[in-house]
Amino acid sequence: MSRAKFRELLLDMFTATDYRCLNCGRDVFDNLGFCPDCMKNVVFNNGKTCKRCGVALDTDEDYCGNCAFDKIYFDRAYSPFCYEGVIRKAVLDMKFNNLGANAKVLARYLVFEADRQKLEYDLVTYAPVSAKTLKTRRYNQAQLLARAFCDILNKTDLLAETVVKIRETSPQEKLSRSERKTNLVGSYRLHPLANVKNKRILLIDDVKTTGATINECAKVLKRHGAAQVTALTLASRKESLDYEISEE
Ligand SMILES: [Zn+2]
Ligand SMILES: [Zn+2]
Repeated sequence: MSRAKFRELLLDMFTATDYRCLNCGRDVFDNLGFCPDCMKNVVFNNGKTCKRCGVALDTDEDYCGNCAFDKIYFDRAYSPFCYEGVIRKAVLDMKFNNLGANAKVLARYLVFEADRQKLEYDLVTYAPVSAKTLKTRRYNQAQLLARAFCDILNKTDLLAETVVKIRETSPQEKLSRSERKTNLVGSYRLHPLANVKNKRILLIDDVKTTGATINECAKVLKRHGAAQVTALTLASRKESLDYEISEE
């Protein structure tokens, strides 16, 4: 899809109001979240992608290394953006600089991607953070994104807490690639009040790096009878890029 077409669709979808650019703070007079200058540096995930997890691929393969070699529990994953440049900054601001309000703007792109991929789901949920993280950050950015997503679509009745993180894990950025994959194993449980049996679940998170977080959440959901788990993250990190971030 061309960028012009994308703009057109987004503008159709939302009423114009004034906002500030998520990257530079300049006033913007549409719903795109970024001023025209910063928008030039947004990297959309519109090229060749892994047929399972949706990460941008530079190779001729159909699947990325993770999906080719690991046990994957989610059915598909999609991201409108690559985790680079201004999107990376906007996501980190949302997560670490107390700018939870960014989630409301960025969630529009999740709506757009869900529409573009024609996603079908009976329940919308989000990747949890541990109690300790919630205490220091005071919010879970994935939950904010999921709530904003449902608000935009008038589907708040579909939003549910399904997975809880029961133990603190080492920050992913301090670990090697293989350690990252095992770090989260066994850290998640189904919420005692959640009912996911035979449900098609849309699992929202901010960023997918190795995919370990969404995979562990999907494992819990599938083991409790979920019919389908589709992950939707704002951005995904190309395999070759080695940014230092925490997946939580
Ligand atoms: Zn800007
Ligand atoms: Zn993949």
